[in-house]
Amino acid sequence: MQETIPNFETDNKVLLIEDNPGDARLVEILLSESDLLNCKITHKTTLFDGMSALEASDDYAAILLDLSLPDSRGFETLIKLLDRFPNNNVIVLTGHADKVLGVKAVQAGAQDFLVKGLFDSELLAKTLRFSIERNSVLKRLEETQRIAKIGNWEYNPSTKLFTASNEVYRIFGYPPRKTNFSFNDLENPEHPFHIFYKIHEETISSNNKLLRKDIRIKQIKGDNRYVFTQCSINKNSENNLVFSGIMQDITERKQAEQEMVKSQERYQDIFSKSKDAIYICTFDGKFTDFNRATAILTGYSQPELRSLNVKDLFADLEFWDDFERNVKDGVSVKDLEVSVQNKNGETQYCLLTASKIETEDFVGYNGILRDITESKQAEELRKARDVARQSAMLKEQFIASISHEMRTPMNAILGMSNLVLKTSGLSDEQENYINSIKQSSEILLGIVNDILEIATLQNGKIKFENHDFDLHELLANLVNVMSYKVNEKDLNFELNIDERIPRFLQGDKLRLNQILYNLVGNAIKFTDAGFVRIGVELLNESSGSVHIKFKVQDTGIGIPEDKVGAIFETFTRIRTKDRLFEGTGLGLSIAKNLVEYQGGKIWAESTLGQGSTFFFDLILETAINEDGATDTPKKDEIVILGEDASFRLLLVEDHKMNQLVARKTLERQWGNIDITIADNGKIATELLAEHTYDIVLMDIQMPIMDGYEATQYIRNKMPEHVATMPILAMTAHAHISKDEKFKEYGMDDFVLKPFEPEQLFKKISKYVNKNR
Ligand code: ADP
Repeated sequence: MQETIPNFETDNKVLLIEDNPGDARLVEILLSESDLLNCKITHKTTLFDGMSALEASDDYAAILLDLSLPDSRGFETLIKLLDRFPNNNVIVLTGHADKVLGVKAVQAGAQDFLVKGLFDSELLAKTLRFSIERNSVLKRLEETQRIAKIGNWEYNPSTKLFTASNEVYRIFGYPPRKTNFSFNDLENPEHPFHIFYKIHEETISSNNKLLRKDIRIKQIKGDNRYVFTQCSINKNSENNLVFSGIMQDITERKQAEQEMVKSQERYQDIFSKSKDAIYICTFDGKFTDFNRATAILTGYSQPELRSLNVKDLFADLEFWDDFERNVKDGVSVKDLEVSVQNKNGETQYCLLTASKIETEDFVGYNGILRDITESKQAEELRKARDVARQSAMLKEQFIASISHEMRTPMNAILGMSNLVLKTSGLSDEQENYINSIKQSSEILLGIVNDILEIATLQNGKIKFENHDFDLHELLANLVNVMSYKVNEKDLNFELNIDERIPRFLQGDKLRLNQILYNLVGNAIKFTDAGFVRIGVELLNESSGSVHIKFKVQDTGIGIPEDKVGAIFETFTRIRTKDRLFEGTGLGLSIAKNLVEYQGGKIWAESTLGQGSTFFFDLILETAINEDGATDTPKKDEIVILGEDASFRLLLVEDHKMNQLVARKTLERQWGNIDITIADNGKIATELLAEHTYDIVLMDIQMPIMDGYEATQYIRNKMPEHVATMPILAMTAHAHISKDEKFKEYGMDDFVLKPFEPEQLFKKISKYVNKNR
């Protein structure tokens, strides 16, 4: 807002309100004769016109007022004027006879009075000069008040006259100098100025008749302002009590103060409610302030903390010197990982954030400790899990490669044993020894298979088939295979099948067989007299599926009560004092995994010395199509080629011993077979390019070019008649049957090493036949 700066030296305007032209003329002459050169007179002849002039301009230095005007006569004239314009210098002009009136006028608020005919130019000039001077002082005061936002007022209860400076009006939102309020307004509770009434009341009742306080006022438009007010009661020259007060607008300061309080409260709130430990301390390590979380994190009480050094909180102080130097240099530290040791000696992982505080009377820093123990632990668990996964993977790879490495030489041992057994002229003793070698190798092979199986199961990488099968046939086969051993030990062997169970079911026949084989095998192994009894019971039947319980009972050595639960664990075997039983402690663990993966449960009951019963239950679907449920259809039964069959076979194999085993085994079966041997895939492809063969037996793991690569080369890069020839994979990788990778690479089928001669002959016959 721009305001014109008043010029106090020039343009001293004087308003003359006088209806008598002679009197008016006289004033003008006297003034022109005086030394007040810069006075300008505005002349009005009625009170109304005079007040209109004052309304229009508020910079009259003085008003010369005749009390008898056409529209107002006597003392009233002054009161009317002062009522409207209380802050003006009014000099009353009275007649000779009205001198008393002049005195009364001064008492009522006029500045002075002049008696017509009795003043000369000198007196007029003196009176006016005083007014001009007073006006200029008032203007300066007003200016000062405006800048300081301080207004003052005065109230005289005996005259009921209330006068207030412009700033008071401004504070209340009124335009200055335009309004004046009366005692009535002060008494009206609706009026903004009613506050003065209250201030006066309070001043009277205050101790030493002096009131000082911050109060809230309402502006004309309803806005609130805060003011500091001071009011006192004094006696004026007439010995009347007069209230005089000042009022300062302190709204901005008050708002700033309130903001400050609020933000302090907010800070305090954050400080006290924070889950992070927040503290302030000196560089000597003394705590000057800390929140509740600090006490919680450290486990120390408040007094304990006060007596501690900050350094005592940390379990490891390696970071300290760097940290302290940084903070002292004013470099903020953010999220530094530290370990805090609490009162109980437990270590917590925290992130420390700190920055320097420097004020007139304090130098130190604030620290914030965020507890990350939990997330740290989670991270460590995650790391441990990753390591575990990694090592599980390594274990699997290790087991797979170990079992491969063991199977390869075992193939040679078994194959050679078979070959030796077929030679003529062996003594009984020799035949015995060879048979022992063969049996031991078979046991070893079984162990290798078990280990591989358990590794697969533990990695959860097992898939189950779901085919129709004949339950009766499966159990009959099992009894058949096992009866040899049962007979050997002279045990009773029984099979009971609940008649209500449908004969044709759906599921993984091989896995079910494997479980039963394990349990029955154990039962026979650990029983010397009595019986082994297999039972199958129906637990429940619903449309499309049956819930069956299998039971294998024996009268063997039994299991100590406290060990029954443990036998399903990997590698658990119960020690027996006087006898040694073969085994690895893997069979039951495999069985348990197989049962549980299919949604069943396995358990055992046993009495030491009396026998054991093993149970497991499975839910199996009933077969959709009973016809398809029989084993491999008889009509497709592969007939092994006759002994005189003649065909050319390419054997691709790098292991010399196994080359010999395969060659001899095959030649023994087929006298006319023509076998060529290639040491690796590369040589095989070269031979295939030059010669014709009926079938290829391809090892997988070989140097230079492996079996997969060679097969792909043959299938994709060689002439039609070569590309379409039968290729049988031959491998010691036991899992090949499960992942069917050999098919992806274009091989027709596979034989597992060590091979069962029968199996090998059948597969070769199948593909050689096909191609004829
Ligand atoms: P393995 O038979 O190869 O040792 P298993 O996992 O099949 O391994 O069996 C674990 C152990 O449980 C056996 O070593 C034996 O102590 C005990 N066990 C299993 N079946 C029987 C049984 N029918 N009677 C007595 N003990 C048994």
